[in-house]
Amino acid sequence: MTTALIYDPAYLKHETGHHPESPLRLKAILAALEGDELLWARAKKLQPVAASDEDITRCHSTRLVKQLKSLCERGVAFVDLDTALSSDSFDVARLAAGAAITAVDQVFSGEADNAFACVRPPGHHATANRAMGFCLLNNAAIGARYAQARYGAERVLIIDWDVHHGNGTQDIFYKDGSVFYFSTHQYPYYPGTGASTDRGEGEGEGTTLNIPLAAGSSARSHRQAFTEALKVIERDFPPDLIIISAGFDSRRGDPLGGLMLEDSDFREMTKEVMDIAERFATGRVVSMLEGGYNLETLGETVRTHVTALTS
Ligand SMILES: [Zn+2]
Repeated sequence: MTTALIYDPAYLKHETGHHPESPLRLKAILAALEGDELLWARAKKLQPVAASDEDITRCHSTRLVKQLKSLCERGVAFVDLDTALSSDSFDVARLAAGAAITAVDQVFSGEADNAFACVRPPGHHATANRAMGFCLLNNAAIGARYAQARYGAERVLIIDWDVHHGNGTQDIFYKDGSVFYFSTHQYPYYPGTGASTDRGEGEGEGTTLNIPLAAGSSARSHRQAFTEALKVIERDFPPDLIIISAGFDSRRGDPLGGLMLEDSDFREMTKEVMDIAERFATGRVVSMLEGGYNLETLGETVRTHVTALTS
């Protein structure tokens, strides 16, 4: 497998002060990836393009784009209580969303089989009109819309295994039957959304699937729910692209989460996703980093995930 590894040093320039979503996260991940000489040599290292206004406004309102530009220009430090900004943050967010675009180009052109985008800020809480929950632009959603616009993708499956529900992604595609949003997440928990009764609306009826999990749920039951849901999804919605909202705060010991997955679970989940992509999407998997805040374990968990993608 050729795996594109997309990263930009500018991701460190989104300054958040004393905050769990800090540049140290990416430093820890890069140290783990670079430390694995075989993996590092095999990965196809790329820098992202910056998402254009056209790319962004396939998912977000022009009002949000203007608001974020203006807040950065004026040096306002927060969008809301959780979500910090610095003067470069909007430009960095364009490069995070742009990594989804670069990744989609790689897998549709066949230059890579799959891709991992090591980005920040994360994206899955950002709705069409609102930046929130550490997220400015919805990177995965922007990638999905780009795949449709540029390559005519008909059925994009977004699999979100972050500990938090991706309210923004669900919201953007809630009435859209061409993008399936599937999430496993701790519930009830931030941001309060993600009930199993949310199944989509109108054209999107049946293309949202939430698996809420109580804090402390065993890795075994978590994994079983994930696998069973994927079986139903692949039958009803064979995808031509899979995007993973790859949050690693669902690993045991994350300071912001209460779920119990181990590194080996992320390896197996990655393999299950790749297996579906092999059968329906000529292997196309784009994995976008979301959360993951335990600096002691994050690097190794991501290394396990990327190793699975490459083999
Ligand atoms: Zn999260």
